[in-house]
Amino acid sequence: MATAHESDGALGDLIDPELPSSTYVLEPEVVSPLVKRIVTSHDAGTHRSTSPFTGAPLAAVPLSGPADVARAVERARNAQHDWAATSLVERGRVLDRLGTLVLDRQSEILDLIQMESGKSRRSAFEEVADVAQTCRHYVVRGPRYLADRRVPGALSVLTGARVHRRPVGVVGVIAPWNYPLTLALSEAIPALLAGNAVVLKPDPQTTLSALWAAELLAEAGLPDDLLVVVAGGGDVGAALVDHVDHVAFTGSTATGRKVAARAGERLIGATLELGGKNPLYVAADADLDAAVPGVVRACFSNAGQLCMSIERLVLHERIADEFLERFVPAVRELALGAGLDYTADIGSLVSAAQLDKVTAHVDDALAKGARALAGAVHRSDVGPYFYAPTVLDDVPDDAVCLREETFGPVVAVTRVSSDDEAVHVMNDTEYGLNASVWSRDVARARRIAARVEAGTVVINDGYLQAWGSAGAPMGGMKASGLGRRHGREAIDAVTEAQSVVAQRGLSAGLSLDTLYALGGDVPSRALTGAMHVMRRLRLP
Ligand code: NAD
Repeated sequence: MATAHESDGALGDLIDPELPSSTYVLEPEVVSPLVKRIVTSHDAGTHRSTSPFTGAPLAAVPLSGPADVARAVERARNAQHDWAATSLVERGRVLDRLGTLVLDRQSEILDLIQMESGKSRRSAFEEVADVAQTCRHYVVRGPRYLADRRVPGALSVLTGARVHRRPVGVVGVIAPWNYPLTLALSEAIPALLAGNAVVLKPDPQTTLSALWAAELLAEAGLPDDLLVVVAGGGDVGAALVDHVDHVAFTGSTATGRKVAARAGERLIGATLELGGKNPLYVAADADLDAAVPGVVRACFSNAGQLCMSIERLVLHERIADEFLERFVPAVRELALGAGLDYTADIGSLVSAAQLDKVTAHVDDALAKGARALAGAVHRSDVGPYFYAPTVLDDVPDDAVCLREETFGPVVAVTRVSSDDEAVHVMNDTEYGLNASVWSRDVARARRIAARVEAGTVVINDGYLQAWGSAGAPMGGMKASGLGRRHGREAIDAVTEAQSVVAQRGLSAGLSLDTLYALGGDVPSRALTGAMHVMRRLRLP
């Protein structure tokens, strides 16, 4: 990936009047081909993204205005009709190629993801792996999810009922900054396979990663205008909801409520993947050798800026001290770093705003009597927004970090004396996104999982096994969202069920009208008899 502080190239459309082009970290030859994909009439200004690793200006990205959003959806709508008419095999072929390309070209996108989001390379790789995994799953299983289904009709032999799945049309995907590649594509993949077009609005900080994804889809053979990108903030996202036929939103619960209200006004479907306050329970019989590194990963991957990240650590009192004696040093050993390689365990927070929120949550807990077992410091020696992985103990009930999503490298410890108490603590939140249970006895962990109010419960892992299971629906209960990504559910969300029900037997004079023509109570008595027979034969 070419970077420059001393660039002499012309930025063309990208000129930010406040800054000379030499100020940007990314070379114009990297940025210009990507931003050409944005639907913009160039009168809505530019957004200057910042490098989380250094705080320096990263790139200037042109923004879309409301009229551009309308134009983008219209282009997508025009392209969708032909796309829906192509065979499922052809649509699958494009996604199959995408899955191969993303693995082959990973070094390019790993650099870009790291530079835009500040995350570690390992966390960026998890995005690449997710896209490849999602492509493979839908290429193989998608045809089954989309196949016509025969279902029981009103009168078994005389009614032929089938259910077809029809694409909704144009799906709007609104994505946050924390997983810029995977959240641009993971809902677009099933939507495209099902015959929809997609208009994508990434977060302004991570627009280039999303544009790279659009470029890769084009290289994989996706015809023009089937994945169109608009750029901007909340106003552009809101305008998108006003035009599309379904919105797949990933972001905070606060914004999700606004998107849901707007989608409700328009009577369009909405998939809402929102925030969490995810708990992890280490039961008394857990294998601590496995649990320690697994829990470290569960809490601190992507510096905690992961919707499935663990922020509440629930320890059975019998193993709590031993667990912490091993866990805390492992947390202290985590290497923070800004390199475009695999040397660092943890990267940066994405922005000053994110750093402020994390600092405020930790300071609030400490002021109310919590103890920091690790971290609780801003690591400005590594970069402007780095924060040390933090473990808090004795956190009082009214601490903000026990209730509100921190979305940073901070975990609060609670001790419990039984599995029942653990379930109570885990469910004591308005959220219900992800939870984790560690136990040597998987059957016991499954019984605990059945009582936990969360869309995913991962046994003996924090999040990756669930995220990587593209066939298993993923999403939130309670304030963590509506609908699911992954699996059949993601296809159902972007298709309409259409029932086509045929009356049979007309030529043999067996129609309902023939029956009704008999007059009086004869039809009712005949139908009553037929229903008794069907019940006795247990026909569905
Ligand atoms: P955010 O809600 O501020 O922004 C998300 C996206 O919505 C951005 O693209 C933003 O520009 C856009 N947006 C803002 N206002 C809008 C409006 N009124 N209408 C339409 N779009 C609008 O979220 P964020 O802070 O960028 O992201 C972090 C949040 O995302 C966390 O809460 C995290 O838990 C959540 N998240 C959830 C999942 C999941 O799968 N459940 C995955 C990743 C992140």
